[in-house]
Amino acid sequence: MAVEAARALDRGHYTYLVPDDMELVPGHRVLVPFGRRSAWGYVLAVSGEDPGIELKAIERTDREPLLLPHQLELARAMAEHYWAPLLECIRAMVPPRIRGGRSSGAGPSTRQRRHSALLAQAAGSGQAPETPRPLTPAQRAAVAQVRSNQAVLLHGVTGSGKTEVYLAAVEAARVDGLQSLVLVPEISLTPQLVERFARRFGGRLAVLHSRLTELERAQQWWRARRGEVDLVVGSRSAVFAPLPRLGLVCVDEEGSSSYKQDRTPRYDAGWVARRLAELAGARLLLGSAIPSVATYREAETGALALAELPQRIGGGLPEVELVDMRQEPEAGNRSPVSRRLKEVVDAALDSEQQAILFLNRRGMATFVLCRDCGRSVQCPNCSVALVQHAELDGLACHYCGFAEPLPAHCPYCGSRQIRAFGIGTQRLESLARRLWPEARILRLDRDTAGGEEGYFEIFDAFSSGRADILVGTQLVARGFDLPAVAAVGVVDADLPLHFPDYRSAENTFALVTQVAGRAGRTGRPARVVVQTSNPEHYALRRAAEHDYLGFYREELPSREIFGFPPFAELAVLTYSDDDAERAAATARDGAEWLATGMVRGAIQGVKLMGPSPAFILKLRGSYRWQLTLKGEGLSRLAHLAPRGRGWSYDVDPVM
Ligand code: ADP
Ligand code: ZN
Ligand code: ZN
Repeated sequence: MAVEAARALDRGHYTYLVPDDMELVPGHRVLVPFGRRSAWGYVLAVSGEDPGIELKAIERTDREPLLLPHQLELARAMAEHYWAPLLECIRAMVPPRIRGGRSSGAGPSTRQRRHSALLAQAAGSGQAPETPRPLTPAQRAAVAQVRSNQAVLLHGVTGSGKTEVYLAAVEAARVDGLQSLVLVPEISLTPQLVERFARRFGGRLAVLHSRLTELERAQQWWRARRGEVDLVVGSRSAVFAPLPRLGLVCVDEEGSSSYKQDRTPRYDAGWVARRLAELAGARLLLGSAIPSVATYREAETGALALAELPQRIGGGLPEVELVDMRQEPEAGNRSPVSRRLKEVVDAALDSEQQAILFLNRRGMATFVLCRDCGRSVQCPNCSVALVQHAELDGLACHYCGFAEPLPAHCPYCGSRQIRAFGIGTQRLESLARRLWPEARILRLDRDTAGGEEGYFEIFDAFSSGRADILVGTQLVARGFDLPAVAAVGVVDADLPLHFPDYRSAENTFALVTQVAGRAGRTGRPARVVVQTSNPEHYALRRAAEHDYLGFYREELPSREIFGFPPFAELAVLTYSDDDAERAAATARDGAEWLATGMVRGAIQGVKLMGPSPAFILKLRGSYRWQLTLKGEGLSRLAHLAPRGRGWSYDVDPVM
């Protein structure tokens, strides 16, 4: 039994007596005496053996098990892979309101009036389901692949008709009497997609995402659990929807960082979806315009079947130009907006069309860039950018801990023009106001959007033509079709390139591809200007050429050389403490403890690195140091992980 009230205790499971009149199977939620109180727990196993000690009896239980058998298996798999307590994995599967025992599945409460817009859409207006349009030959081939393989990667650019393939695969499962699960990143930003599923499947659809109220979530969850739906559409946590007849698990934009949970258990919904499909005997369909390198490698090695939609339906891909920012100062332009970008935006405004200026969200001045050669100072061991830490008075690698003082000259070209890098959205907005004083300008970022409502308001204003220029962050790159956009500028394409992450090239490629995907979707010509100091970098070159495979082929060898995924697993163990000295010292002790354990256990093929300062060393008053493990079969080390307050683990980390 895993008991809720025992979360803080570093102890696994408890044993209770099953009363004679109670029928229990693993997955049942039960109320048990715990200390002086009663607490909710989950049955993990039922045994006929006499434990030889006196046991307290279970007080009561639900009629049916809360968790399906495959879900309990899934929780176990997660606990092992992510080094997380089993109870935390089970908790992640059950909406808070149900966990607390407040909802018995008795149906909606009348007191609850609030409803999210998405739910109202999903419930539909009782209209007859829309009939599917005939598929293109490429789409038909993709559906056939899904029908004949356990696991398929569907690779196709934005607008190539992937969603239509998901719809057809879901329909095929439904005809077989099976249920489907469709995962999308950040569902509240993609209402059009939910709408399409709702139109096709009417009321036999449940929507699950983190922005629903607790009651709404519980209601949707019960609809799924009672088998009332053919389909669940949702974001990350919907991967835990209880579907008793699961036949298809579909993940849109597989590899998106939105699928990674940032609290314990730090799961990646893509990983969970793969295990879920295996455990439930369902088919798996991973779709993406930009599959992660690791996933594409699975397709290359045959672990996934590959289906491709090479063409956009209606309209070609926009033209992407790389602008070399190193040439701007020579021409007398010291502004972050290049002459070419200015020209392209001018042209868009002249023809009464719109422009988007896109900035990386993480525009913090944390890495050091040479203005002349465009390179950032790198770690000699890990080939990632070093991070500037004011607290350490220098640069440090956040994988291996390598540190050095800030150099006076660029280590590559000797230039003195070397400095911290990054511009914020606010500064870009005021710059845009100076450059285009006549234009109506809107800014969209986490600050101005302030949640779902604000996001839709700003987007609505822009898409209905009440503004000419939209200045924004990644938020802009999601979801919507914007027919009137004639110019898109990526102001700081280099930023993710210098991010201290082994995926920096991949993220750069993805960013440019995704932003370009916003432009020219309705067949009108649009221009995408990508500003960079590294125009010869393969990630940017290949993105400009819309050449995913070319990018993949250039990226893979360096992953192999430096031992990063898909050639090795990564785990990051972080220790945080209010006291700077104690944080560093405890992390060192942790490293020693682990190293000793690895020697004692004769564990080979795993490298321990660090302690090194976390990417953001000081966060909310805590100093954070981390150990990085790299190698094969990291779960062998889970039992050696340093325990106690302040430690947290992140397996398959995403920055
Ligand atoms: P993706 O999911 O790859 O971005 P979509 O499925 O949204 O692509 O398709 C892009 C556009 O093409 C949509 O407007 C969609 O309605 C249209 N479309 C998709 N499949 C077909 C088809 N077989 N026939 C006609 N139009 C299609
Ligand atoms: Zn240089
Ligand atoms: Zn390093």
